[in-house]
Amino acid sequence: MERMVEIERFDEEVSYEATLRPSSWDEYIGQEKIKKNLKVFIEASKKREEALDHILFFGPPGLGKTTIANIISTEMGANIKTTAAPMIEKAGDLAALLTNIEEADILFIDEIHRMSPAIEEILYPAMEDFRLDIIIGSGPAAQTVKIDLPRFTLIGATTRAGMLSNPLRERFGMHFRMQFYTPVELARIVAQAAQKLEKPAQEHAATEIARRSRGTPRIALRLLKRVRDFSEVANEEEVTLQRAQYALDELGVNNLGFDEQDIQLLELLVSAKNKPMGLSTIGAALSEDEGTIEDVLEPYLIANGYIERTARGRIATQKSYEHFKLGGVKDGLFDNE
Ligand code: ADP
Repeated sequence: MERMVEIERFDEEVSYEATLRPSSWDEYIGQEKIKKNLKVFIEASKKREEALDHILFFGPPGLGKTTIANIISTEMGANIKTTAAPMIEKAGDLAALLTNIEEADILFIDEIHRMSPAIEEILYPAMEDFRLDIIIGSGPAAQTVKIDLPRFTLIGATTRAGMLSNPLRERFGMHFRMQFYTPVELARIVAQAAQKLEKPAQEHAATEIARRSRGTPRIALRLLKRVRDFSEVANEEEVTLQRAQYALDELGVNNLGFDEQDIQLLELLVSAKNKPMGLSTIGAALSEDEGTIEDVLEPYLIANGYIERTARGRIATQKSYEHFKLGGVKDGLFDNE
């Protein structure tokens, strides 16, 4: 079954999201600190008529990294080229991208932590000195060709800041960590999207969807889409709270936005009775890739205080025990066993 609060994109969703993607700061809700800083830097670089410094965004998927990169390009009046690191396999791929851009244009590279070390080496002089050093041929006949590039802005996005090499990270002038959205912000995102879809959502309905979206706009929009289907079938002009609640229950999204996998993870840690559990054990128990657990499942549960990462592994917090109506550590539940 498709996971409702899965954060990665399904194919059909790409065009749905494109329709709803904010194109200006006004429509880009939340992340206030990042927006405020970026507005200053954009204005300053426009005044100086210079390209913007390279920017790195990190945070879990679906929080608006690609969207913000697009808004930056609009604000700068620049073109944006979008790619993902796994698509840049050879030096020639990167050269083709970089020699086709104009002064002050933006190159957006998603999943930048997956860049191969050989490509990274070529990227360094391109970022620092706007120069490409390409080696042509091999052995004694090999030659280095230097190509001057226009001053461009690289915007990198990554779900795993820790996996980025230091030299690469240091070459970005600005680093921004995306935050999970508050339910109030998500409700505004839902209401705005519902307007665009010409099926307005009542305030309480938007709030209900927001509450169950794991702090993530991508999930909020996906839930809205499904809830809207239920409203449509019921011939309702607006998305009502009752319809939203009914639809979300039908879809198996619980009150806190946890889905089955979140619950499995929490149950696992709660059953470990305050003993830290390693990532590989969790991966095996959930039949899930360790990277996905770290990048997708855990961040929301950690940010909301349900689990903690310790040097020896993950543990459930008191809040988790309470969620499962167990007394937990504080009440000495386990001391009696
Ligand atoms: P990421 O690149 O971090 O995975 P995206 O930028 O693709 O995330 O965001 C997913 C979708 O969520 C976008 O298509 C957009 O419609 C919506 N979205 C993201 N951030 C915001 C925001 N701050 N305000 C309104 N909508 C947003």
